[in-house]
Amino acid sequence: MSALTEEQRLFRDAVRTFCRQEIVPLVTRAEEAEEFPVALFPKLGAAGFLCPTFPEEHGGSGADTVCFCLLAEELGRVASGIAGSIVAHSSIGTSAIRDFGTVEQKRRYLPTAIRGEAVFAFALTEPNAGSDIRALETRAERRGDRYLLNGAKSFITNGGICTYALVAARTSGEGEKGISLFVVPREAKGFEVTGVVPKLGNRSSDCVGLAFHDCEVLSDCRVGGEGDGFSILMQSLNGGRMVVAARALGIAEAAFDASLRYAKDRKQFGKPIGQHEAIQFKLADMATQLRAARLLIYDAARAKDRGEDVAMLASMAKLFGTEAAQRVVDMALQIHGAYGYTREFPIERYYRDVRLTTIIEGTSEIQHLIIARRLLDQGPIR
Ligand SMILES: Cc1cc2nc3c(=O)[nH]c(=O)nc-3n(C[C@H](O)[C@H](O)[C@H](O)COP(=O)(O)OP(=O)(O)OC[C@H]3O[C@@H](n4cnc5c(N)ncnc54)[C@H](O)[C@@H]3O)c2cc1C
Repeated sequence: MSALTEEQRLFRDAVRTFCRQEIVPLVTRAEEAEEFPVALFPKLGAAGFLCPTFPEEHGGSGADTVCFCLLAEELGRVASGIAGSIVAHSSIGTSAIRDFGTVEQKRRYLPTAIRGEAVFAFALTEPNAGSDIRALETRAERRGDRYLLNGAKSFITNGGICTYALVAARTSGEGEKGISLFVVPREAKGFEVTGVVPKLGNRSSDCVGLAFHDCEVLSDCRVGGEGDGFSILMQSLNGGRMVVAARALGIAEAAFDASLRYAKDRKQFGKPIGQHEAIQFKLADMATQLRAARLLIYDAARAKDRGEDVAMLASMAKLFGTEAAQRVVDMALQIHGAYGYTREFPIERYYRDVRLTTIIEGTSEIQHLIIARRLLDQGPIR
């Protein structure tokens, strides 16, 4: 992308080299074993690729949001599952501590997260609370200088490999006002991993259910004030959504590159299939969708770096970026014909992996709602 600064280009090239050397050799085994290769965390930390936007005073690279999206895009190109664990740790798992934690919490958690010595999960979704965050039922009851957590969480990325989970729990009443956030150590008594989620795709990411049974945490594990959880979550998710879109873009780019090569190599009716107009139209559509998605995602990232309110831009980037990525991967499979449907080509993995991205961190339907509400309240952005 030509609009990258020199620093951003160097960052992207360094991630690309790391992916080629350290991640690509692990992908097939990790996907087959359905396990995240945990030894990657300290290596990513040493390379400066965990929590890249975190400030240098805590050991971070102080990179901008554009760099974080570039990281997600490059990871998405090679292994969306592995990317899922890395970005969950680096964004929604830890960004609330960076933005709303006390000085002591930042000192306690951020350096180890950045170095990859501690792995973070983000535990919001519950059996009865998916899109409707306000309905969450996990409770955190105050007992002197402690809280007792009780409840269940579903689909938690890194839940089985984490050192800490950032858990959303209800400290009072109904609705959004009663939600608070807690850093819960995996070793806390009453913290249970209830089972691995058998997934369609992204098999190399760790994804489990969690349960809390009188799980006791000290009150200094609460991030933000009592009842601040919902508004903190909304801000964390804005950043997270751009990163999900960038990851989807990476998957779709890999599928597109493979399709372009295949269209030149595969011959039918006496000529490469890329010489048939129907295939040419698909390639043109794919490239156009990718370009539009890239422009939206990086426009939102730059707006965040300028300190603007990005709620609507992040939702547009997530909505269009992930839906476009899905369309592109679908066309890629069609271009590959039967071979695309086999496990001998990576297209079937891209097809399974990209499907997740319109669901996590707010489904496409929820992004439509966010965009529409903003339009009706504040008018269009021009
Ligand atoms: C692999 C994987 C990893 C995940 N990782 C995490 C994680 O790390 N942490 C975490 O907390 N969660 C995680 N999730 C959960 C994910 O964020 C939720 O699945 C997502 O928020 C949607 O919730 P739901 O699946 O319960 O869908 P529901 O909310 O039950 O929605 C079902 C359908 O109804 C639609 N719908 C719901 N409400 C409305 C409405 N008002 N208007 C129109 N349509 C609506 C939805 O768009 C969707 O199509 C993960 C999920 C998966 C599959």
